[in-house]
Amino acid sequence: MKCPRDGTVLAVVTVAGVKLDKCHKCDGIWFDERELEVIRKLDLSQVEEELERKFGREPDYQEGETDGYMRCPRCSGDDGRLQEHHFSYLVPVKVDRCVACRGIWLDDTELDKVLDDKKQMNDQYSVNKLAGMMKLLEQDISRMRKR
Ligand SMILES: [Zn+2]
Ligand SMILES: [Zn+2]
Repeated sequence: MKCPRDGTVLAVVTVAGVKLDKCHKCDGIWFDERELEVIRKLDLSQVEEELERKFGREPDYQEGETDGYMRCPRCSGDDGRLQEHHFSYLVPVKVDRCVACRGIWLDDTELDKVLDDKKQMNDQYSVNKLAGMMKLLEQDISRMRKR
């Protein structure tokens, strides 16, 4: 598979038993459906440690601009268009998701944000926002219990 941002061939990385496809150039990572949920259950530091052990970091990488839209590295054809998607109500980050296979492309900084939502909740959110989120969480939990 190729990086939707810069066309670099993606390398397979195994983090906590999950095989992810990672771009060496821009540090973006492709998650197939459900893989991201598995990774999100882990600690951010654990994931970063594993990634860094395998790849190291290129801190001076400048985020490239993509013309128009990105294509899903897994799907081909017109279906494989990545669309902006709000990751969750907890995380103020937009990720690129494939409508066809529901895979998610995360740029380097987006992974941090997506994995770091618990910390952000403690650090940044006001009491009001927290109360609103708790309500949403409770709704989610009761929905999950009904399943
Ligand atoms: Zn890339
Ligand atoms: Zn796809």
